[in-house]
Formats: sequence, structure tokens, C-alpha cells
Amino acid sequence: MTAAPIVEGLFTWPADEPRLIGGECGACGTITFPCQSGCPRCGAEPLEERLLGRRGRLWAWTTQDFPPPAPPFAGAGGREFEPFGIGYVELPGELRVEARLTEHRPERLHAGMEMELVIVPFTTDEGGNDLVTFAFRPVEGAVEGEGAA
Ligand SMILES: [Zn+2]
Repeated sequence: MTAAPIVEGLFTWPADEPRLIGGECGACGTITFPCQSGCPRCGAEPLEERLLGRRGRLWAWTTQDFPPPAPPFAGAGGREFEPFGIGYVELPGELRVEARLTEHRPERLHAGMEMELVIVPFTTDEGGNDLVTFAFRPVEGAVEGEGAA
């Protein structure tokens, strides 16, 4: 059985290479995530669905080292809680997406590092079904920082 998305319509799933589902305005080219019913810039509607790039650059981030208040936080709390990062990832030529990060250790995160989209376990619902959400993780093998001069 495949785990279900926490919210339908945010990303393609199941998929070997999941993509975020954004929207693109046919009138002015504005790109949104998630897809919206109308363009936030010019008001044209509807937006065309557009699958966003899977890779981007980390732009800014913070970390969540303790469980947020629940509700509204629906993820695993208490002993099951695992710290996570939250950041903005800039998708080239598209937009900045706010997303969970798989990495939360500040020393492992730096602005401009390459990130890719992954689908991660999020929580288990009342019926015992596993739910997944999207996140960005550092790209393996990507150049790390400036290194030794
Ligand atoms: Zn528009």
C-alpha cells in the first residue's frame, strides 16, 4: 500500500520523481505554488497547472527543534517528534517555495546549496494510514561550501 499525501494536489504521487504541482498564469507568466484559482498579480483565471522543477537552491531557512503547538501542527509530536528544517528553496526561473527540509543541523545548511525534492513520512492518521509530505534535501555529492582555500 502506498502512503497517501497529507494534502491532495500539492505534488505528484506516487512517482519515482515526484514534482510539486504549481500554477502558471497564461496572461502574465506568474508562477504560484500551490496552484491557485486566479493569478495573484493580474487576476486572470484560471491558472494552468505546471509541474515545477525538482531542484533548486536553498535561499533561507530556520529549524524546528521542538514540536509546534498541536493543533495546528498535525505531525508526530511528543517522543515521536523529530527536529526538521524549514526553508525557502529557489527553483530556477520559477519561484521560491517554502518547504520542510530533511536536514535540520545548521552546520549542514548554507545559502545557495543545491536541494532536491523528496517525499517523506509525515504522520499516521486516525485510521492508521501513513501520510507523506514533500521536503527538500541536500543533493548528494553537490559542492559543499567554499572548502579550504
Ligand atoms: Zn497573471
